[in-house]
Amino acid sequence: MIHNDDLNDQLGDDHIATSAETPLRSDAFEMSDEEKINSIKKDVENILNTLGLDLTDDSLKGTPNRVAKMFVKEIFGGLHPHKKPGSSTFENKYKYGEMLVEKNITVYSTCEHHLLPIVGRAHVAYISNGTVVGLSKMNRIVDYYAKRPQVQERLTIQIVQELQRVLNTEDVACVIDAKHLCVNSRGIRDIESSTVTAEFGGKFKEDKVRREFLDYIKLDTTF
Ligand SMILES: [Zn+2]
Repeated sequence: MIHNDDLNDQLGDDHIATSAETPLRSDAFEMSDEEKINSIKKDVENILNTLGLDLTDDSLKGTPNRVAKMFVKEIFGGLHPHKKPGSSTFENKYKYGEMLVEKNITVYSTCEHHLLPIVGRAHVAYISNGTVVGLSKMNRIVDYYAKRPQVQERLTIQIVQELQRVLNTEDVACVIDAKHLCVNSRGIRDIESSTVTAEFGGKFKEDKVRREFLDYIKLDTTF
C-alpha cells in the first residue's frame, strides 16, 4: 500500500497541476499581512530550530522575519487579488487584426511542490480587435501570477486567461521556457533541462498563426 504522503510526494515530483485556479481557501485573506508575517516568522524559527541551528547567531537572527516578509510581500505577493494590475486598455483601430508580441519577459516564480525557484522567460502575444494594452502591462500580469506558489502550466494558462479578459478576445497566446531549481539542483540534478509550456487561444490554435508567433520568438532556450 502506498502511503498518502508518498503519493503526494510523487504527484509533486511529477509536477502535476490539478486546476487552472490557484487552490486558495475562502479564508485566505482574513489575516492581515502583518499577522501573516508574524505567524510565518514563528514557523521559520521552528524549522531552523528543528534543524539544530543556533538562532542567537548574528547571521541567523534576522532570518525568520526576513523570510516571512519575503513570502508575504514579495515572492507570494501575487496571491492577493488587490495586487492584480489594473486593466487599463486603449483603442487603436490601426492595430486591428495585428499580432502584438512581447517576448523575453523575465519570470521569477516558485514551484509549489518544493518551494524552490522557477526562473525563465515568458513570450506573450495577442491579435488586437482594436483594443491594445501597454507592453509593460503584459510584464506586470506575468509578474503578478508568477508571484504565487506555482505550477508552470497553470501560470501559462492564468496569464492567457487574464489577457483574454482584459483585451476581450480569445486570440491570446503564451509560451514559457523555464528552469525549475527543484529539478536542476536536487532530485535528478539535471542542470541543462528546461521546461516549455504553451497555451494557445482563439486564432493561435491555427497552424499558420501559431507558427508566425513561434517564428517571432524563435525560441532560444539558453539564458
Ligand atoms: Zn518542484
